Amino acid sequence: MNSTICVHAGGHPDKETGAIMPPIYQTSTYVQESPGVHRGYEYTRSHNPTRTRLEEALSELEGGKYALSTASGLSAEMLIMHSLEKGSKVLCGDDVYGGTYRLFNKVFSSLHDFSFVDTTNLNLVEENLKALRPAMLWLETPSNPLLKVTSLKEVIALAHKYQCRVVVDNTFLSPILQNPLKFGADIVLHSLTKYINGHSDVVGGAMMTNCKETYDKLFFLQNAIGPSSSPFDSWLVLRGIKTLSLRMKAHCENGLKVASFLEKHSNVEKVLYPFLPSHPQHSIAAEQMKGAGGMVTFFMKGGLPEARRFLEKCKIFSLAESLGGVESMVDHPAIMTHASIPQSEREKIGLTDNLVRLSVGIEDIDDILNDLDNALKK
Ligand SMILES: *Cc1c(COP(=O)(O)O)cnc(C)c1O
Repeated sequence: MNSTICVHAGGHPDKETGAIMPPIYQTSTYVQESPGVHRGYEYTRSHNPTRTRLEEALSELEGGKYALSTASGLSAEMLIMHSLEKGSKVLCGDDVYGGTYRLFNKVFSSLHDFSFVDTTNLNLVEENLKALRPAMLWLETPSNPLLKVTSLKEVIALAHKYQCRVVVDNTFLSPILQNPLKFGADIVLHSLTKYINGHSDVVGGAMMTNCKETYDKLFFLQNAIGPSSSPFDSWLVLRGIKTLSLRMKAHCENGLKVASFLEKHSNVEKVLYPFLPSHPQHSIAAEQMKGAGGMVTFFMKGGLPEARRFLEKCKIFSLAESLGGVESMVDHPAIMTHASIPQSEREKIGLTDNLVRLSVGIEDIDDILNDLDNALKK
């Protein structure tokens, strides 16, 4: 894992003072020597030196030439949607972050045409590519919350065959565990709020790409619309990145132990974790991912009352929307993160009331397992 990149990316001593940590340039504007004569910084909506450092770190981590950071993951998604011509067709994975689903179906549906497909089914993906000729394919792997794994190599090659550009939301793994640009993805998207910042104290987003034209277009939109990340948030994320590789290692170790423990538990019906041999796409996961991270999804025996009791009894796991922080969190997608998806749609894709999503933190594994065991007791 890239610990050296995490510690050093975007970091060079301050030229004036030698300060080892980047200063927080808490400024809205910059004094010009003469009209139009400046040092690359005019106004913080367009450029800020602390944000520049963060963007350098992000592009290095994801192995991309360019990165842009935004005020939230969803505002990065908004910029990508505005970069498409009006009336574009977008093919999207059918198991994506609830907010992504809402943004596409409730906000951008007046501008573009969205269709949803199970991206693990390549035949179905090709049928849709052929019939719709979409401008963009949008996917998450592993998906949220069903942790379905799509072969990046195959789905990207397929989309490119039909001149369709591919966006991969890589939030669930972070750049430490998977790098979609290496498989040919056109844009990688992250919610920095999750693993990359990792401390549950910032909301932020980022996009990485190797294509200059794409970067220029997204940068134009970021400046024209305005959702750039603040200097202080940029600084906090830079600080979080220093331990990203260490944290991901701990999330992977604890995640696998929790998944194996739950799989053997008598009150658990089924566990989904890409690095368990029982996962339907285990071999694809092993091929394209360096670890499966801390996200574990499981189905309890019983229904909503049993799930509710479990969620109320957890002590170390905080009942909260969000994921990817150092602390363990538990979520009930049907009531919480994915409530914006209509019940009929939820049931169609298997998002049932006994489904629980864990974001396994970096606490001591014995404490984590004890907490789950206590909460699962009848
Ligand atoms: C949280 C999340 C987002 C949205 O990011 P925000 O920072 O909350 O706006 C997008 N995709 C995934 C997979 C997420 O988990």
